[in-house]
Amino acid sequence: MIFTLMAALIPSVGLGLFSFWQHESLIAANVVHQLRTLASDTKRELERWLSERTQSVRALAASGAVIDGLSHRPVSAKAKSSQELTYYLNSVKDKLGTFLELTVLDPRGKVVASSSVAPASVVMPPDWFAKAASVVLVPPHWDERRATATLTVAVPVLSLDNRVLGALLAELDLGSVQSMLNFVASAIPGDAILLDKTGRAILSTYAELYQTIRIEPALLQQLRESKNELKQFEGIGRRTVLGLVDAPQDAPFIILVERDRAEVYQAWVIFRNLFLALVIGLALLVGLAALRIGRYIVLPLDRITVAADRISAGDLAVQLPKAQDDELGHLTQVFNRMSDKLRHVHREFERASLALQEQNALLETLSVTDSLTGLFNRMKLNEVLDEQFARFKRNQHTFAVLMLDIDHFKVLNDTFGHLAGDYVLTHVAEILKKSIRSVDYAARYGGEEFAIVLPETSSEAALDMAERIRSRIQMADYHFHGQHLAVTISVGVAHSRADDVTADAVISRADQMLYQAKYAGRNRVQIAKEVGRIGEPPDDGGDSLPGA
Ligand code: GH3
Ligand code: MG
Ligand code: MG
Repeated sequence: MIFTLMAALIPSVGLGLFSFWQHESLIAANVVHQLRTLASDTKRELERWLSERTQSVRALAASGAVIDGLSHRPVSAKAKSSQELTYYLNSVKDKLGTFLELTVLDPRGKVVASSSVAPASVVMPPDWFAKAASVVLVPPHWDERRATATLTVAVPVLSLDNRVLGALLAELDLGSVQSMLNFVASAIPGDAILLDKTGRAILSTYAELYQTIRIEPALLQQLRESKNELKQFEGIGRRTVLGLVDAPQDAPFIILVERDRAEVYQAWVIFRNLFLALVIGLALLVGLAALRIGRYIVLPLDRITVAADRISAGDLAVQLPKAQDDELGHLTQVFNRMSDKLRHVHREFERASLALQEQNALLETLSVTDSLTGLFNRMKLNEVLDEQFARFKRNQHTFAVLMLDIDHFKVLNDTFGHLAGDYVLTHVAEILKKSIRSVDYAARYGGEEFAIVLPETSSEAALDMAERIRSRIQMADYHFHGQHLAVTISVGVAHSRADDVTADAVISRADQMLYQAKYAGRNRVQIAKEVGRIGEPPDDGGDSLPGA
């Protein structure tokens, strides 16, 4: 899901950001162009306006009334001439309406006549009368008295022979430029503001003039230094604006042009919001699709993984539900078939293993069994004896051994044949099996000799057992092919003793007792005498228990 989201979002967001960046720089370039045009158009119109007004003042300065009023004349006529000049200036001011105040100065800077009763006091630059050029004497500023923006120009008054007679000052009303400024700004988006030197707004294309508002001097300085470059700052309307200042160092006008930043980027912001909504929508859509696809793939894989884990843990009953008809469905089917096969093989294996176990058990039985009689064989007997002897050495649990031998078996063989001999051997073995306890061991020692091991059995009990067996064998009926056979056995009995080094010592004692029983006349039991203490020499004389 993360991969899909990244694959979908990185290109679209990347392209989007790139196009925003492009768009933003295009917008900025466009705004710079428009604001520069607005600034230069405004400046041109202001300069044209100023040049026309200056022209009018020049024409007025060249009028006979002004020249006469300043010409050298007798002191008596002076007051009269000043009076006439004042009338003239007032009349010109009233007729033209473009001047707020007209004042004539003599070459020393003294007021000769003025249209105003209290003319604004101005100080002429010291070298002005020497140069005698038209200048803006008082730069644009806000005149509190007249409640308008004004500026004052000074033009020289020359005699007919070009001598400087004085100066004519005209205070001009910048308010008359307002409509022309509005006209210029109407064609270009943005507002133009005329600032005084301190940064105060004195004229602007805004519907209301923010006269109390000024641009901070530091900001104004910065804007003037950045030379027509677009800056973002808090503008006249106390909003964030994009703007620039057009004000060459010697020009009388400082023009600030600005445009509301929010308005400039309005379309861009709408576009950006749309883009963001689109990207978020796209991300959600792609995310949902990725989630669905992920679940479609991951869930079956998850089930297969869990099933594989269960199988590896030994649970072969696992069966996966039928899946969709695709690669995963195929995989699920293959998995089910594999687990079926595994179950089948496992069952076969268990059967084979059971059979093998049975065979092994049989083999084990056969390996310890005498084939003719079904008793334990000599090998098993030795094992049992070693085991009992070890127990005896460990726990002092004594055991008894009976050695049994069929009497005159050779004669029986010779008389009735070997098959009769085998029959007797089998019959005697059956009697032995029935006569012993479940904890005892009966084995064929060899030929017609048998041995019985009796664990944890006293001498009396062993003797009883031997006698019972001897008696049963003697009493049993033996019929072979219609012939009656008489069978007896001789038995030697011995016990484990503390001085025995191996189990063979016990067997050997039992064997000696058997020999003694034979020697004493057969069909009897002979038991070895027990030794009371360890280290007491064995007495192999034994006690005889003759048969009936
Ligand atoms: P005694 O009373 O002194 O024990 O005399 P005996 O004849 O029983 O002893 P002997 O050792 O002289 O003879 C044992 C005979 O047992 C010899 C052999 O032919 C016979 N025999 C040994 N094994 C088998 C067998 O598996 N089957 C048969 N039928 N006879 C066997
Ligand atoms: Mg024998
Ligand atoms: Mg014998």
